[in-house]
Amino acid sequence: MPPAVRYNLLASDPSTRARLGRVDTPHGPFETPAFMPVGTQGTIKGLLPDVVAATGSQCILANTYHLMLRPGETVVRDLGDLHRFMAWKGPILTDSGGFQVFSLSDLNKITDIGVTFKSHIDGSVHHLTPARSMQVQNDLGADIIMAFDECPPADAPLSYHLTAVERTLRWAELCIKAHARPADQALFGIVQGGTDPALRERCARELIALDLPGYALGGLAVGEGFDAMKGVLEHSTPLLPADKPRYLMGVGYPRDIAQAVAQGIDMFDCVLPTRNGRNAYAFTATGVVRLRNAKYQRDPGPIEAGCDCYACTHFSRGAIRHYFFASEMLGPVLVSVHNIRFYQRFMADIRRAIGQGRFGEFLSSDRRCSLAPTPTSTDGESSEAIASEL
Ligand SMILES: [Zn+2]
Repeated sequence: MPPAVRYNLLASDPSTRARLGRVDTPHGPFETPAFMPVGTQGTIKGLLPDVVAATGSQCILANTYHLMLRPGETVVRDLGDLHRFMAWKGPILTDSGGFQVFSLSDLNKITDIGVTFKSHIDGSVHHLTPARSMQVQNDLGADIIMAFDECPPADAPLSYHLTAVERTLRWAELCIKAHARPADQALFGIVQGGTDPALRERCARELIALDLPGYALGGLAVGEGFDAMKGVLEHSTPLLPADKPRYLMGVGYPRDIAQAVAQGIDMFDCVLPTRNGRNAYAFTATGVVRLRNAKYQRDPGPIEAGCDCYACTHFSRGAIRHYFFASEMLGPVLVSVHNIRFYQRFMADIRRAIGQGRFGEFLSSDRRCSLAPTPTSTDGESSEAIASEL
């Protein structure tokens, strides 16, 4: 049976491991390196699908954990699957639900069978196992689905990372057995192992032996720090098959994306552009603009000069600031649109640089490649507060 998605390598950068490609899915192609906005509850918060598409987004993500609890995956299925539900004709990826179970729910018990947890919505008790995660994702119907894995916190002892890797490997085999729609949904494996090279290598090697149509690096951007993440990327990305998509889950800041692209990662997702947007934090090439700041009250300029997004071509900083203070919906909508467009322009420029064989130069000269949650924003204020509010 041919896989549901296929990776096409279009160009390789001569001075880094960056690669330009295209992933073909049953709902059309997306170009890589790709950034996927996150639609947690089956919607990119506040944005019409046409508006999301106009930002240049080609593939979007939805969360299995949230949709399983509400409205329930069979409700989504009976309404015609997630594409119909979200009114998104293009590719969709769902996660396995595991990460949210570990981070959001009142976790009762993890065993080799799976996880028992209480819903963060109503306290009801649920079980998530590899087979259950597959059934939910089969009902939701995304083009790319993720294996159910165990993601320990960054500071967990090595013994816990070893247990998590062994469970992740066993669960991946159970996911393959339970996956009922391999012809139209591609199941990706997730490499765990914390920051330990030997564990990462073992997890990657045994997952690759299962011949899945794509692979992800999980368990990063969970508090291990930039240098540790970079170390894992340098070590583990080259272990992944070159003829399949490589996905770095839950990352991240533009700096992190640029560094991961340089190691050969193709796919990214993160809530930052939308979550920050809803809090009036706008990404620009020179740092974060905090639109609630008093100095923008009479500022007639756009969020970012030169940006072609709807917010920047129609609204002033002063007007957007007013919407936030008046609790008008349009404020969060406009800054979310700008931030997603900011990310998608960044990805398009990355793809162009790889195609022209000059990504190494782009990485060292484009100021967006150093945007991270530390030094100072354009306001001269520390953006640490922004990171901590996320
Ligand atoms: Zn803009």
